[in-house]
Amino acid sequence: METKLYKIDDLTKRTNEIEAAAALLRAGQVVAFPTETVYGLAANALDGAAVRKIFEAKGRPQDNPLIVHIASPDEMETVASSVPDSARALAAAFWPGPLTIILPKKDCVPDTVSAGLSTVAIRLPAHPVAQAVIRAAGVPLAAPSANISGFPSPTTARDVMDDMAGRIPAVLDGGACRYGIESTVITLVTDPPRILRPGAVTPAQLERVLGKVEVDETALQPLEAGKQAQSPGMKYKHYAPRAELSIVRGSLAHFLIYLKTHPGAADAALCFEGETPYIPLKSVTFGKKDDPLSQAQRLFDALRELDRTGAKKALARMPDAEGVGLGVCNRLFRAAGFRIVSNEKKDAIIGVCGGSGAGKSRLCALLADIGAEVIDADAVAREVTLPGSPVLSALQAAFGADILFPDGSLDRKTLASRAFGDPARTAKLTAITHPEILRRIESRALAAAENGQTVIIDAPLLFSSGLDRLCGLTVRLFASEDVRRARLKEREGLTDEEISRRFLSQETENLLAKKADLVICNDPSDDMQAQIKTIFF
Ligand code: AMP
Ligand code: MG
Repeated sequence: METKLYKIDDLTKRTNEIEAAAALLRAGQVVAFPTETVYGLAANALDGAAVRKIFEAKGRPQDNPLIVHIASPDEMETVASSVPDSARALAAAFWPGPLTIILPKKDCVPDTVSAGLSTVAIRLPAHPVAQAVIRAAGVPLAAPSANISGFPSPTTARDVMDDMAGRIPAVLDGGACRYGIESTVITLVTDPPRILRPGAVTPAQLERVLGKVEVDETALQPLEAGKQAQSPGMKYKHYAPRAELSIVRGSLAHFLIYLKTHPGAADAALCFEGETPYIPLKSVTFGKKDDPLSQAQRLFDALRELDRTGAKKALARMPDAEGVGLGVCNRLFRAAGFRIVSNEKKDAIIGVCGGSGAGKSRLCALLADIGAEVIDADAVAREVTLPGSPVLSALQAAFGADILFPDGSLDRKTLASRAFGDPARTAKLTAITHPEILRRIESRALAAAENGQTVIIDAPLLFSSGLDRLCGLTVRLFASEDVRRARLKEREGLTDEEISRRFLSQETENLLAKKADLVICNDPSDDMQAQIKTIFF
């Protein structure tokens, strides 16, 4: 069968194409059309033989009912045996739009549409092309998503052609779908009303009209074995790309830690806008992290794009399940077969490095503000030489009992004058102090990570101390040298020479560039807060 593709750019000029589609529908054929949610595969809802062709074209299981699309709210009566006030209130609030209402069905609705149920799902779509086609056909149209069953729903005419070319006579191209995920499905047959499938119309919006509304437990979970599906569609493998997809819980930092600690777990990533530069994999984006509508709009397209990369295994970022995000998670969790992974607790440790003046303290303060446990290696170094500590006695034995002030505290200047300048003596100092410093940092980091906290280790010598081996991820804070010099002059009143000496005692920028997993830039022209938000929120 040849599949004709009609581009409907300007409805007023495309009446011939709309009429051609309507004629096919009246003749019992199947036509794909755009709606504001996803592309639909339509047939006359009152013609059982026509509806069967939808199931054949999609390979859809017979027991999964279809949504009936109408062109005006009054037409609810054509297919529903009773229309309660609550249905009229929903129609007034959300139609035309991405909401499907389930009501008791009339006998004229064939069993193929309702899959043998006593109810019918009804929607009035907002897309002008969908409305024009329903009106021109003069009958309600049963229409599921226009994809092969089990795969991602189509959000462009190209997606429909990829799945349906040769299987149906015509596809109407009305551009990319505005919402990108299927309608919210609510049943008014139960009391209280129950959301069977979340979508762009949110539970909160529905509650404003209906009062109490329940969300079916299959929204974010697989249907329990042996349990009857309220909405038969929820029991099938759904929306799945060919790549084996898993979702990583947590922030982008957690995602990157997972990647690093599970080499080979993925050859592509599904991430939010702006994250691509941080991810060392082929990456496809699906919307903005804090904008679930944009995620919905992009999700299915992104899943298809993911498959076009040829990836075998992919990891996705975890969206928030609030509002429209509930619909996004509902689709993404199913696309991933509910494979949701997270880091082993001990891996959520992040090492921060960067030269003096790069702004590490500010970075760590900002991370502490969002609940991270920050371990400052300098502070631990001071702790291990407190009066009475074994390390302090060992230092006295090695460098002289008079390295203390009269009050018993360590005189760092005197110790430095004896330990530095001679490699053997510096090594001795390191051998005495470092093991205890490292032991304390490690035990504190592991305890906090075990508690579920994100742990930040701020260590001047992150790599040469070996502390990086404790970290699931290392982040380098970068600022150019003249910026760091200016900051140190202003903040600490250091001279150029003192600054140079300090820089020489630190890990070189080359080493940091080579070793660190990712970079946060903190020159005056950089927005560090924005980068932190991207990585850690
Ligand atoms: P699709 O048309 O592919 O977007 O899928 C329609 C969704 O609505 C599926 O999840 C169906 O199981 C669901 N649905 C359609 N009719 C009914 C009904 N009468 N009762 C419960 N769920 C329904
Ligand atoms: Mg579908």
